Amino acid sequence: MAQLILRRGRDKSLRRRHPWIFEGSVDHLEGRARPGDTVEVSDGQKILAKAAWSPASQIRARVWSFDADEIIDDVFFKRRVAAAVARRQTLPELAGQDGLRLIHAESDGLPGIIADQYGDTVVVQLTSAGADKWREAIANALQKATGCTRIYERSDSEVRAREGLEPVSGWLRGEPPAGDIVIAEHGVNMRVDIVTGHKTGFYLDQRDNRLLLRQLSAGKRVLNCFCYTGGFSLQALAGDAAQVISIDSSEPALATARANLALNPQLDASRAEWRNANVFEELRRLRDAEERFDLIVLDPPKFAPSASHVEKAARAYKDINLSGLRLLNPGGMLMTYSCSGGIGIELFQDIVAGAALDAGGDARIVKRLQGAADHPVALAFPEGEYLKGLLVQC
Ligand code: SAH
Repeated sequence: MAQLILRRGRDKSLRRRHPWIFEGSVDHLEGRARPGDTVEVSDGQKILAKAAWSPASQIRARVWSFDADEIIDDVFFKRRVAAAVARRQTLPELAGQDGLRLIHAESDGLPGIIADQYGDTVVVQLTSAGADKWREAIANALQKATGCTRIYERSDSEVRAREGLEPVSGWLRGEPPAGDIVIAEHGVNMRVDIVTGHKTGFYLDQRDNRLLLRQLSAGKRVLNCFCYTGGFSLQALAGDAAQVISIDSSEPALATARANLALNPQLDASRAEWRNANVFEELRRLRDAEERFDLIVLDPPKFAPSASHVEKAARAYKDINLSGLRLLNPGGMLMTYSCSGGIGIELFQDIVAGAALDAGGDARIVKRLQGAADHPVALAFPEGEYLKGLLVQC
């Protein structure tokens, strides 16, 4: 096995069990390794970890194990996948969910591996050279841990290019299901398009936050910005909102949202309105029209995928948060999110505070919001905390 020799003094983050070894920390590779091969990581004297080699990426290696004696093989993946699945079973709020993140990559000790379960189908996304190499072992391990016989691979995330990997999609196990995949989230039916939907088909990370919106919605006028397939909108209706206006710039997403509403005859469809528009512009139009809302959700796409986009992203977050706050009735609430890796919670709070100041009203955080418990954040890997939100009340 080849050995990755660290530069002198570059072992600190590894000793804190952070799983990434950046290009700048690598002195040299002793021996030969192909992309995805397991290498031993050494400080020149001692083996500190076993990691997957990824020569094309700035993250030159991702650690599989901090135990120098652990063998990285099919059994290793069976163990790690089974442990991740078992952790979900210990959390009461995750029990009985048809839509569940089973593996949250680095935070479950499986860098580059995402697995989401929708009913009896598991969708995997492999985003690193190491994960790509162990596709079969991962599929076997998932099948064993879940009993699911249908496994679909959705490795078309653009981050693969940074690892020198082509997009890959298709069935790894089993046949496509006969009809649509539909999950029930808090009793609301939602169609999940695993082939062309965002991520693996659905934003499972917002599950708890959708329930919170539902609990706040009775009798309220709700505006859901960046609604995608209507996850928040339908929960607001389920919570007996008086009216729910939802905005998205994607017509296919809105078509699915309408179809989702039709899958839920218990909801009053006459209270829902879907608008195909750019949120930045629509918020201004609503202000010009002197519209007001009791609850506004802002769940935009990643404006800052990395640190280099932060400044521009901060302006965009400020813009929508300012517009949102200006549209609130007295006592109204803004539920606002950022899923940008490049923007930490402190900066996000500063941005929202700046927006509140400009909006001229006085506002307070009544709750801090985060991803659901099936999206854990390893304590050694704070980067895992990509989703942060604030519930702000005027
Ligand atoms: N809140 C959703 C997930 C939002 S994903 C849920 O709970 O499922 C982000 C959405 O923003 C996508 O559907 C995308 O089509 C939409 N979007 C991106 N930029 C936009 C813009 N400028 N105006 C309106 N929608 C936009």
